[in-house]
Amino acid sequence: MGKPIPYGRQYIDKDDIEAVVKVLKGDYLTTGPYVQEFEKRFAQKVGAKYGVAVSSGTAALHLACMAAAIGPGDEVITSPMTFAASANCAAYVGAKPVFADIERLTGNIDVVEIEKQLTEKTRALIPVHYTGLPCDMETINQIARRHNLIVIEDACHALGARYRDTVIGDCTYSDMTVFSFHPVKHITTGEGGMITTNSKELFEKLKLLRNHGISRDESIFDYDSHGPWYYEMQELGLNYRITDIQCALGLSQLNKLERFVKKRREIAQIYNQSLADLPLDLPVEPEGCYSSYHLYTVKLRDIAKIDRNKFYHVLRAKNILAQVHYIPVHTMPYYQREWGYRWNDYPVAEDHYKRVISLPLYPGLSDNEIDTVIQVVKEVLA
Ligand SMILES: *Cc1c(COP(=O)(O)O)cnc(C)c1O
Repeated sequence: MGKPIPYGRQYIDKDDIEAVVKVLKGDYLTTGPYVQEFEKRFAQKVGAKYGVAVSSGTAALHLACMAAAIGPGDEVITSPMTFAASANCAAYVGAKPVFADIERLTGNIDVVEIEKQLTEKTRALIPVHYTGLPCDMETINQIARRHNLIVIEDACHALGARYRDTVIGDCTYSDMTVFSFHPVKHITTGEGGMITTNSKELFEKLKLLRNHGISRDESIFDYDSHGPWYYEMQELGLNYRITDIQCALGLSQLNKLERFVKKRREIAQIYNQSLADLPLDLPVEPEGCYSSYHLYTVKLRDIAKIDRNKFYHVLRAKNILAQVHYIPVHTMPYYQREWGYRWNDYPVAEDHYKRVISLPLYPGLSDNEIDTVIQVVKEVLA
């Protein structure tokens, strides 16, 4: 039996290592030129006016909520089929996290369910492009305009994805878009995140909040400067800065993004063809959606001879470290205790959770490993 095959992992080459070493030998480890360069190149890549790089995707979501002035008394609607951070960001700023159930077909937030969750208090929508497949952004944007809501896209799965004639991150249908550079995501900085926006005002707020709310920009000072050392803390911000070491890695990784996405899509294509006859619901790509395939999720049908739990254990025993994405967020003890959610609140998401499993998918997966995964899955389910 070969070595374990994880569900996802980073791809690091010589260029990445050299880029990091170069920063280590230089003058600035943080708040130096690489941060701005990464922000500029990233924003260019996705077609947004501005980018603000931060210490994680979670920090990016939190800052986006703060910059949008979401707070106590507000409600924020997101998907239950996501990582907890997509909802936690609302709670961080004192708002209520609300969930809208998902579409059975795609696993993405269902726009009909969003409508059902709207109240007088709804302030923002946080659609999550689950697995890298874009949500129905046109309808989400229409709902937001009709009700005067902020839209923050959680695109932590969706760097390199496209929707209609737009690129995810260009904020055509949203106020801000958030990305993560955790090692399992499309590009990595170890830990890291980015917010893109086309709003100068949000851009300035995000930069201020990332750095304790401190500004050295004389043009926005309340008081006269005391001298060259002078700065003002104008808001209660945080230290959500990212280092130059990380941004040098990010820049080097960004050069490979197209290759990474292409490879992920090729592997997904091979899985689609090879697993088509099994009792599985395979990923779909509706008209107008171009997935960046952060995850390759399959759902076991009732007719399969084993259930998902058994399937998971059998794969593990054969060294295929499949994962489950996700346990619905509303079922977490914190959400049940603090916000009153219960099992059965979002039946489509819960059914999805019962059936879903993520097969290994990452750019460094070898042809041999792909074959192994396919052979094992076929053996177990055929
Ligand atoms: C990874 C992820 C996050 C959080 O990103 P971190 O960089 O790990 O903080 C948020 N939302 C989704 C959907 C994610 O996949």
